[in-house]
Amino acid sequence: MTTIYTLATAPDHHFHDHPERPARLELLQLAGLPGCVELPFQPASLEALRRVHSAAMIASLEQACLRGPGIIDHAPTYVTPASYVAACLAAGAALSALRAVLDGTARNGFAIVRPPGHHAEPARAMGFCLFNNAAIVAQDALAHGLKRVAVVDFDVHHGNGTQAAFLRDSRAAYLSTHQEGIYPGTGWLEDADSPDLRGRLVNLPLPPGTGDEGFRQILAQVVSPFVRSFQTELLIISAGYDAHWRDPLAGLGLSSAGIGRLSQGLVDLAEENCRGRILFLLEGGYEARNVANGIRAGLCALTGHPQPEVDDACPWREPELDSRLAREREWHGFK
Ligand SMILES: [Zn+2]
Repeated sequence: MTTIYTLATAPDHHFHDHPERPARLELLQLAGLPGCVELPFQPASLEALRRVHSAAMIASLEQACLRGPGIIDHAPTYVTPASYVAACLAAGAALSALRAVLDGTARNGFAIVRPPGHHAEPARAMGFCLFNNAAIVAQDALAHGLKRVAVVDFDVHHGNGTQAAFLRDSRAAYLSTHQEGIYPGTGWLEDADSPDLRGRLVNLPLPPGTGDEGFRQILAQVVSPFVRSFQTELLIISAGYDAHWRDPLAGLGLSSAGIGRLSQGLVDLAEENCRGRILFLLEGGYEARNVANGIRAGLCALTGHPQPEVDDACPWREPELDSRLAREREWHGFK
């Protein structure tokens, strides 16, 4: 079986003098990777959007876009008259990839989309994000018969929108690794302050410079027990390549090789826990080389090809994570 990918990159219209711009994807090359098939898609339906976002939010976002170009928050998040359609196409591309994975047409998938989604909350767009693609996909999977769905988010920023969308839904679990102290300032261990949330809402804020070795430990000590204990039937990955050390907006320390090992580890977890059902979604990443290398690494993991060799090791010394990881495991009851 093949890996499918969908491409909704809004190249012509949804743009602005801004880090979240079409040029993020200008170095991406998808040709020449066997086992990958591009899938056509439709814009997301209002019904699919409404599983996550309020009717008022959707209507006001559409109006803001029509009035655009303009800025809708301090992130800043921009909209243009084309942005509403671009956001519906991004969510639709993610949904089409999901359907192919769930109906067995594809083994797994990658939705390469922009605008990104994980900051978009049920009642507001924010943080360069208009609709929450990951949450929309998760709710769609649940609406079509899955009982439990988990999202692992390795974007350098906390996905406050995905957390908000899942807070009261015990069928959905969310794990986020993110750099502490940066935008949007959310995503604390202590957010899981009730028995219902422990093990289901897992925030792991990280010190600057956490890189390949740190993420090796995180995968083994936190991500693996999270996926295993929740017994998810589908793994959704919010893949943000701004966790690469060279990203201009942040300061975590992953290299392309580290992102490749992390991607492979996530695919392996899906194999072990949910029959290989895994869907990567593009979130952030603001340096075109990192985005191209990261997506390539993800696709190699998904198709079972060896990781490409990229020579961009992080020059920084990594902070030590032992006590942080021990506290995280104790808080969530991970064995
Ligand atoms: Zn980000």
